[in-house]
Amino acid sequence: TIRLSNVCKSYGDYPVLKDIDAEVSQGEVVVICGPSGSGKSTLIRTINRLEEISSGSITLEGRNIHAPMRAKELNLLRSRIGFVFQSFNLFPHLSVLDNVSMSPIRVKGVAPDAARDKANKLLDRVGLADKAHSYPGQLSGGQQQRVAIARALAMEPPVMLFDEPTSALDPEMVGEVLSVMKSLAAEGMTMLCVTHEMGFARDVADRIWFIDAGQILETASPEGFFKSPRHPRAQRFLADLR
Ligand code: ATP
Ligand code: MG
Repeated sequence: TIRLSNVCKSYGDYPVLKDIDAEVSQGEVVVICGPSGSGKSTLIRTINRLEEISSGSITLEGRNIHAPMRAKELNLLRSRIGFVFQSFNLFPHLSVLDNVSMSPIRVKGVAPDAARDKANKLLDRVGLADKAHSYPGQLSGGQQQRVAIARALAMEPPVMLFDEPTSALDPEMVGEVLSVMKSLAAEGMTMLCVTHEMGFARDVADRIWFIDAGQILETASPEGFFKSPRHPRAQRFLADLR
C-alpha cells in the first residue's frame, strides 16, 4: 500500500502539488490522468523520491519514503519501487541480459548466475527471450521499453510506477508494451500509471485519479469516470480528448 497524506510540493513559489491525499492498495491499478502540466509526473516521481516534497508524507507499506536516510538506504528503498519512464534509459553499453541483471547483483547482492537466470525468465515473460545478448541500440522502441520493464521487475518490487511508458513509441509498438502492463496487472501487481492510453485505463485500471493544477479533483472507477465524470474540469478534459 502506498499512502500519500497532505503532500505538497513547490518549485520556488510555484505550488505544483497541493495537499494530495490518496492511497493505492495492494494489487490495485491506478491510472492518473489530467492535462499537461497538471503535476502527474511530479506526483509519481515523489513516490520513489526522484523529487523531494515540501510537506506531508508518503509511505510504502508503512515506511516513510521521505524520512531522512543514507544514500544506500535510499537506493534500496528506490529499488523496491519499480519505475518505468517515457524514455527507456537502458545502459547502451550493456547487453539486454546485463541491463536486467545488473541491479540485483549490485544493489541486492544476488549471485550473478542466479541473477542471470532470473533475468532470462523475465525476458521470456516480456517476450524477448531471444534478445538477451543484443544491445539496446539493436532493439526497437517497444522492445527497449519491455526490457526496461523487465529490468524494473528484476528487483521484485511490490509496486510499479509508470510515467507515460508508451508516449515515445511508434504507434505500432504501443500495444506490445500495454499488453505486458496488462499481464502484470492481471498477476496482481500494484501499479500507478500515468498514461494517455484511455483504452488501457478503461480496461485495466481499478481506479482513475484525475489531477488538475496540482490537485486530485476526482477519483473514480473507470466506468464512472468515463461515463459520468463529476468534476467540470474532468468533463472538459474528457470532452477535449474526443
Ligand atoms: P505532462 O502531461 O506534460 O507530462 P505533467 O502533468 O506530468 O505534464 P509535471 O511535469 O508534473 O506535469 O509538471 C507540473 C508543473 O511543474 C508544470 O507547471 C511544470 O512546468 C512545473 N515543473 C516541473 N518540473 C519542474 C522543475 N524542475 N522546476 C520548475 N518547475 C517544474
Ligand atoms: Mg509528465
